[in-house]
Amino acid sequence: MRRHLTGILLVGCLAMSSPAASVEEETWTKRDDLLGQFGWDLASAEIKTEKLAEGLYVLFGIGGNIAVSIGDNGTLIVDDQFPELMPRIEAAIAEVGGEGVDFAINTHWHFDHADGNLAFGAAGTWLVSQANSRAKMITANTINLTVAQYRQEAYPLEALPVITFGDRMSFHWNGEQIDLFHAGPAHTAGDAAVIFRGQNAVHMGDVFNNTGYPFIDADSGGEIDGMIVFCKAVLAELEPGATVIPGHGPVTDVRALEEYVNMLESVRARIDKMIRSGMTLQEVIAEKPTKDFDARYGDVAKSLGFVDRVYTSLKKGTR
Ligand SMILES: [Zn+2]
Repeated sequence: MRRHLTGILLVGCLAMSSPAASVEEETWTKRDDLLGQFGWDLASAEIKTEKLAEGLYVLFGIGGNIAVSIGDNGTLIVDDQFPELMPRIEAAIAEVGGEGVDFAINTHWHFDHADGNLAFGAAGTWLVSQANSRAKMITANTINLTVAQYRQEAYPLEALPVITFGDRMSFHWNGEQIDLFHAGPAHTAGDAAVIFRGQNAVHMGDVFNNTGYPFIDADSGGEIDGMIVFCKAVLAELEPGATVIPGHGPVTDVRALEEYVNMLESVRARIDKMIRSGMTLQEVIAEKPTKDFDARYGDVAKSLGFVDRVYTSLKKGTR
């Protein structure tokens, strides 16, 4: 099934060319340092598999959750983590009856969801993303995580999606319809939700983070208002009882996604009001606009600048 092999993968050769030296470069956090900051150890990472339904699994490793569709047509995955993990990801897929990966859909261009393209693309997997995400992968980008400035280098040709879409695209695959869905800028400017109609499940990418407050890539086109619009658009697509796969964290349900939307709307409204009253970012943070949600979503000070990114996003908007 898989596209003809285009080359032999040597993980050691995957290091991308260094960026030109600049003053800015000194403030960038390198990949392995950032992974260390997150407590992510590629060398010891194990891939854990959860079966959601017949033919649909989620793999948990390091980085974004991977959805896996396995059936008569072959294997399709959503997000692909890191190139070093490819042998372990393929072994986990083999354990549940898959062989290789025919298609890998990126929910967006961030390294912890798409760097695996460097290995899978080189091995012949067809890569798929929303058009804006491919456009980001072509160039180097600095992701302002607020706790770090992460430099994501441009991907080489073999790691770029060969298929892109605008608002919608469907796979007719393994006896079901798999819909790729984009509802405007949200976590980034190129997010895709992937809806597995046959199993009534959706992979939300990082538009929905189930580990705590989400990160909004407000310096690269992400928007708090878009996060809310995107989640509501997906909710309107889902059937009752749908399984919700977040970008990170445990698999959950529609109710958890609805509660998350409620939290986003409440915090957004509070911060908007504070901005209108002339408060600075520091004043807004000091006011603790998330405090009644912290029991559910964790210490906001440990998030990737959730209040900062909501504030920044609203200040950038056409309010
Ligand atoms: Zn992300």
